[in-house]
Amino acid sequence: MHLPEPLARLVEELERLPTVGPKTAQRLAFHILRMPEEQVRALAQALLDARAQTRPCSVCFTWTDADPCAICTSPTRDPSVLCVVEDARDVLAMERTREFKGRYHVLQGAISPLEGIGPEDLRIRELLQRLQGGEVREVIIATNPRVEGDATALYLTRLIRPLGIKVTRIAHGLPVGGDIEYADEVTLAKALEGRREL
Ligand code: ZN
Repeated sequence: MHLPEPLARLVEELERLPTVGPKTAQRLAFHILRMPEEQVRALAQALLDARAQTRPCSVCFTWTDADPCAICTSPTRDPSVLCVVEDARDVLAMERTREFKGRYHVLQGAISPLEGIGPEDLRIRELLQRLQGGEVREVIIATNPRVEGDATALYLTRLIRPLGIKVTRIAHGLPVGGDIEYADEVTLAKALEGRREL
């Protein structure tokens, strides 16, 4: 079947999204056609607003609409514990456990020589600047339990330990090669509790 041009364009745009293959893109496109116009408008507006009004926090680099973000400015969060994660989605995963009361630092990736990602491509310089403040007593490294996450943890430990700051790593109980993002709350809470000093 030959799709009308505007519909073909919608399918093409949807197909650019991660995890959306051609079949899913078509299903979504046909679904959108049947939606009430005001709902389609709300969807389009939400896409534009999220893109325009959200940016990485200038302190921790998680996504926020107010800079610094709500976690960085919260008076009830413990400023002496910093949890370092690869991705802003990992902040959400950690928050779901309700166990962590410190603050975060999002690296925006992990060291991966294969993909050409070095330390200078990550927010490591900004992390070290934050640690200069002297407020942080423990850095919990919660990078993903895979080769890149381990390499990043090792690299960070070598930089941070000489500063006299305790460095711990959550890995305990997490499936090797898995993602923090997809770990259930109980597993992640246990991993946090069972963190070991590096
Ligand atoms: Zn922040």
